[in-house]
Amino acid sequence: MINVKGVMEQESAISSGTRFPMTDEDARSTCCYSCGICTSSCPVALGPGGLDPRRIVHLANLGNLDLDRAGRSIWHCLDCRRCSNLCPNSVNPWSLIASLRWEARQEGRVSGETWDRLQQLKQELVAVLSNTLALTLSPRCDEIFQEWDRWAREPEMPSSSVNSIKVQPRKRSLSHPMNQALCLTCRECSSACPLCVTTARFDPLYFIRCYALGLSPGRASLWSCLQCGSCSQACSQSVQGHLVVKALQEEQETYFRIPFQDRIHTTRERVFQVYASRVDALLDGTL
Ligand code: SF4
Ligand code: SF4
Ligand code: SF4
Ligand code: SF4
Repeated sequence: MINVKGVMEQESAISSGTRFPMTDEDARSTCCYSCGICTSSCPVALGPGGLDPRRIVHLANLGNLDLDRAGRSIWHCLDCRRCSNLCPNSVNPWSLIASLRWEARQEGRVSGETWDRLQQLKQELVAVLSNTLALTLSPRCDEIFQEWDRWAREPEMPSSSVNSIKVQPRKRSLSHPMNQALCLTCRECSSACPLCVTTARFDPLYFIRCYALGLSPGRASLWSCLQCGSCSQACSQSVQGHLVVKALQEEQETYFRIPFQDRIHTTRERVFQVYASRVDALLDGTL
């Protein structure tokens, strides 16, 4: 599992402007046995030429990792750390990718303005993702792929299908393996979540509280979750936020007759494709 303290030290180094303190021990690349879990679990690994955390680890092992060889797909990374959290050998592909981007910033290959715009694009992604998923449940779904700017500004779309779901009250148990009843509402999970840009858009704590209280969240943004596990990693109470979100999704799924998971999966993939193409356009100076 990723060392959360180490990650926080890295992030504090980034914000204080010092060199990204990535060491071999941080990345543990030599422990990689090429299982490919990191790449297959990466939400923006969209096929040939796209982001490929396993390839980044291979390049590091060969001593060939640099910005040119890594390619521009490192800028598609959402910093969700799912690759690192799921690696069976505690390799940390995310830290390699983050340090490369930091190097590019330090060397002036990416301007401060472009850097800020990339952060803004990530925030827009959260808004577009939740609104698209709300529309996935309606016939208007296709509208969104042509109108990124508009949907990035919209508040979260209500989803009549989701809101009409009446979930049966759940049993509340202190011994539940997801530990939701142990939550202290400290908000560390929210701080660690890559999608929690504003709590109004997406907040793991909101879903955890809904689950603990036996309520239905009634928000399509539930389906935005990347299942990265960073919320669970950050929780001092061992609340398994990502499993809570998964359990809520499974509850909602049982209320739909259509092949719901397929539609959600396809929609999410299309949003990530548009996001990656906008990042590329930004780096080309055409956005
Ligand atoms: S998940 Fe870990 S061991 Fe598997 S390919 Fe990725 S870095 Fe290597
Ligand atoms: S941090 Fe997330 S988006 Fe970035 S490479 Fe890892 S899994 Fe992919
Ligand atoms: S980090 Fe854990 S204890 Fe804190 S709010 Fe989140 S679930 Fe609750
Ligand atoms: S809720 Fe948890 S699993 Fe889902 S995106 Fe946020 S940190 Fe990742």
